[in-house]
Amino acid sequence: MDWNTFARWGARIADWGAQYHLGLRDRPVRASTRPGEVAAALPVQPPEQPEAMETIFADFERIVMPGMTHWQHPRFFAYFPANATPPSMLAEFLATTVAAQCMLWQTSPAATEMETVMMDWLRQSIGLPEGFKGVIQDSASSATLAAVLVMRERALNWAGNRQGLTGQPRLRVYCSGEVHSSIDRAIWIAGIGAENLVRVPTQGPMRAMDAAALDAAIRADLAAGHLPCGVIACTGGTGTGACDDIAATVEVARQHGLYTHVDAAWAGAAMICPEFRSLWAGIEGADSVVFNPHKWLGVQFDCAAHFLRDPDSLVQTLAIRPEYLKTHGADGIINYSEWSIPLGRRFRALKLWFVLRHYGLEGLRGRIRNHVRWSVALADKLRHDPRFDIVTDPVLSLFTFRLRGGDDAAQITFINRINDDGRIYLTQTRVADGVVIRFQAGQFDMTEDDMITAHRVICELAGA
Ligand SMILES: *Cc1c(COP(=O)(O)O)cnc(C)c1O
Repeated sequence: MDWNTFARWGARIADWGAQYHLGLRDRPVRASTRPGEVAAALPVQPPEQPEAMETIFADFERIVMPGMTHWQHPRFFAYFPANATPPSMLAEFLATTVAAQCMLWQTSPAATEMETVMMDWLRQSIGLPEGFKGVIQDSASSATLAAVLVMRERALNWAGNRQGLTGQPRLRVYCSGEVHSSIDRAIWIAGIGAENLVRVPTQGPMRAMDAAALDAAIRADLAAGHLPCGVIACTGGTGTGACDDIAATVEVARQHGLYTHVDAAWAGAAMICPEFRSLWAGIEGADSVVFNPHKWLGVQFDCAAHFLRDPDSLVQTLAIRPEYLKTHGADGIINYSEWSIPLGRRFRALKLWFVLRHYGLEGLRGRIRNHVRWSVALADKLRHDPRFDIVTDPVLSLFTFRLRGGDDAAQITFINRINDDGRIYLTQTRVADGVVIRFQAGQFDMTEDDMITAHRVICELAGA
């Protein structure tokens, strides 16, 4: 493709994108595609001869778009938000166009230095003390895996990477039952084994790890000759927004010399509003914290902000430094590939720079505060409606509810009816072994009217 053609298509796709977003409210949120439908519309074999962009683009509209679930739809209330704002998209277009690899300082000095500064902007924005250093990981899952590897290596005095785990005592990691499945997978991949992920019971309305039970579990493991290595706490668990008592958790971990990682993948973004920081009081004592600007902050996937009190232990765990990567650089040069598992890295800091400047922290706070306020108001309306029970109260903008008196099958039927209707999209989770309907508000373009529509749809489809 010649560059003049590229320029024409770039402009055309930007126009298409604006029209797509302007018309999103008229589309059903969730794709109603049947399994296999899209695959069946694609040729079985790759083309031998070049095809025209015009044809490729027409097929994109004909085959792909009807099979998309619209995550940027203002009435997307499922899972968690995955906001991609216009300034973020423009920055991604630039990063994609320049297409640099940003693994070392010298392979893209601007990307590295921008990342350092943007992570410090974010650190200040969420109220983490000075001294925490940040790196952008591709996902919270990767950040958690990196943190678990640090836990392992630290406890083994950095022998695990060299010798493997054979002959070592059983490493033990502690968390509640409210954490995300990425914690389980990090434990598997780190070679620690699912049986050594100890589930500590929770207590109280925030479903927080019981600190006394955590302490008892660690003591029992020490007595059994095991090797406790870390604690993983959550702020805003995926199912219902559970929040561990970070101060109490960190205190127990500290007494036993354990490393603490806090998964705040979703809720961390809300910490740009000082009034929500009580949810993670004590965070300054954690060793590692991750949150995803690619969820609630308008910076599109992928962008996971990983903060470390001591990046040296991460670098000691992950840096390889083969000869060809040596930069023989001046002091202070950061090679972020030594802070993460993949070698190659995209220029992700650029979209943070664009988004933070375009909206300003006040613009971002305003949106998050609206989402929380509207969500709390909706929960109150449902609470006072005899057809519904609120199962878990709002944590920020996330709550769960049920049709009163209905069994699990009735909840599933109800949620399917809502999602087939298409005006809104919700998902379900389990609380105390029962199916509940999960509601979260966080899409950047949503308005209070969208919330009113959500209430109307829920009431309409619940029937009498
Ligand atoms: C979304 C989420 C994750 C996973 O995030 P990825 O960036 O997709 O890996 C992990 N933990 C929590 C609490 C989440 O909400």
